Amino acid sequence: MIQLFMPLGFLGFVYREIKGSMANIEKMFELLAQQPKVLSPPGAPALQLRNSKVEFRNVSFSYQAQRTILHNVSFSIEPGQKLAVVGASGAGKSTLVKLLFRFYDCDSGQILVGSEDIRDVDQASLRKQIGIVPQDTVLFNDSLLENVRYGRVDASDEEVTEAIRLAHLEALVAQLPEGHHTMVGERGLKLSGGEKQRVSIARTILKAAPILVFDEATSSLDSKSEQAILQALREIAREHTSLVIAHRLSTVIDADKILVLHQGRVVEQGSHDELLSQQGHYATLWQVQQQHSNESVTP
Ligand code: ADP
Ligand code: MG
Repeated sequence: MIQLFMPLGFLGFVYREIKGSMANIEKMFELLAQQPKVLSPPGAPALQLRNSKVEFRNVSFSYQAQRTILHNVSFSIEPGQKLAVVGASGAGKSTLVKLLFRFYDCDSGQILVGSEDIRDVDQASLRKQIGIVPQDTVLFNDSLLENVRYGRVDASDEEVTEAIRLAHLEALVAQLPEGHHTMVGERGLKLSGGEKQRVSIARTILKAAPILVFDEATSSLDSKSEQAILQALREIAREHTSLVIAHRLSTVIDADKILVLHQGRVVEQGSHDELLSQQGHYATLWQVQQQHSNESVTP
């Protein structure tokens, strides 16, 4: 393999990969730290996205032998639709995202994007089509402006500023000593969890990929900021196929379809109203969350 003989070339490749899908940089680091497990087949063609449909067909997966994380998971998201995935922590929700982005290959079954098996196409071309707002955002030691620009490195300052506005980061920028040129990250200003999440949302807005994935993207936000960001996300996601992993069920009511994942299995699938009337897992989760939101005093 080329990288064995040309480590510098490999780093260059990795750098370009990262540059090509900056919104997902944190995941790239995970990948670098771990050694790439899956590579594109030699000479794999670029993904020609004829449509933005996403489909999982009987997908099973385990990170380690003897512990299956996903069991026969099937679902599809039609172009322009929004699918929400709910389920307890550890159910396998983020694993779905990792498989879609092809950090791992499934053990059996198939994942199709635009009707193509993702194993048959060039990885970078697949990742270009998917914007992910991950659960944990990593910031670089760089200005806020540059941190957002990682979403699409050739974006103009105007485009970056617009993404900052849509992600509701303007109030923060106004407070920073040097505005959006302020250094953030480990050696710069430390941002809160909610602010980091908004940087990640801004990157994804900028990337403008046809498939959007939000992995508990608003989980560190208070409910007022959450509502504002959700509005912005709804606007950008309107034209996109989206997969939303939800923390609060109130954010999934408008989904075209909701998937309930329980211990790696799809146990229910349907719209909010359909699932409520089934009086199963979803209806129970909904009742519990309604009680909590009635009990908690909103600041
Ligand atoms: P969720 O996002 O629903 O909370 P995850 O998909 O992150 O769940 O995790 C599902 C299960 O897979 C968990 O039991 C978790 O411990 C395990 N898991 C996640 N990532 C890894 C990994 N890299 N190696 C081994 N096990 C993992
Ligand atoms: Mg998760």
